[in-house]
Amino acid sequence: MVSQVAPQPPITLRVSVTDRCDLRCLYCLPPQGASSLYDPSEILAFEEIVQIVRAVTRVAPSVALRITGGEPLLRPDIDRLVSMLCALEVSDIALTTSGQLLAALAPCLKKSGLRRVNVSLDTLQPERYARLTRGGSLQRTLAGIESALEHDLRPVKLNAIALRGINEDEFGDLARFAIARGCQMRFIELMPIGPAASRHREWFVPADEVRARLEREFEFVGPLPGPTAPARTFAVRCSTTGLPGVVGFISPISDPFCSGCRRLRLTSRGELLSCLMHGDRLDLRPILRNGRARTELESAVRAALARKSVCRTALRRFPMATIGG
Ligand code: SAM
Repeated sequence: MVSQVAPQPPITLRVSVTDRCDLRCLYCLPPQGASSLYDPSEILAFEEIVQIVRAVTRVAPSVALRITGGEPLLRPDIDRLVSMLCALEVSDIALTTSGQLLAALAPCLKKSGLRRVNVSLDTLQPERYARLTRGGSLQRTLAGIESALEHDLRPVKLNAIALRGINEDEFGDLARFAIARGCQMRFIELMPIGPAASRHREWFVPADEVRARLEREFEFVGPLPGPTAPARTFAVRCSTTGLPGVVGFISPISDPFCSGCRRLRLTSRGELLSCLMHGDRLDLRPILRNGRARTELESAVRAALARKSVCRTALRRFPMATIGG
């Protein structure tokens, strides 16, 4: 008899390659940066990351990779890791970056096999960008976006956290900027994680409010299919320029997507997280470094996947920079 079991949707594995970041965004890190950075000896070597990703590909039918950090472009030879990962059986490979170092690195990332990039862009105002990121350069990130487009790391997705009193006057500007360049603009709800936990009431803007503001300037033509993405995406048309584009909303707070979530996260020191919001971590480093059997790695991945069925929401105090967003 033919099995009636529905095919499993792909797993998205977010691989953090470093806990170092070149920015200290107000909502993500304290002013002095992460309180305790990992010892370099704790950080997984490229070969160790590959072993873990290989184990995930053996357990899950289809795996999409997101390379993140900290800031992944701070990891020396990141393009070498990308080409090692591209040699595995993965369905997609993208990288999430602040964009500060992207202008110079886009050509070698493309050559290494990277398909596309997501760039964090919360504001288009240079001074506001410097304040919000505590010292970042908007110009550098914009140059990074241009370089990514030039080297065909598409679709380039631009991610903005919607922040009351900080960038709520710019949602339309950000969407217009993205659409004019053929990028997708995605608005993300602030999660009460790290420094954002204590300011959440003050800064949080629900996705519906972002959309209502955008509707003043954009016609929402219709939803786009995307069953595995956490983003709800829409085809839009700018009312003034007539330009078509795509806008997405990621709303973990107002519309939690736990039931459909197929994400796993690997920290840069080898802990596998099945959920951003609860603290369970499976430490894979001892398995890797004690030379234990590959089946043990696969069992750990299976256990992390099994834990995904249990949603235990709790406020976490660790900053997103240590787990990669
Ligand atoms: N450095 C890279 C970057 O800037 O995109 C990758 C790491 S960063 C932690 C990944 C994403 O997490 C960014 O888009 C950032 O805006 C988002 N992020 C950080 N703190 C967040 C929070 N409290 N709620 C929602 N998203 C957050």
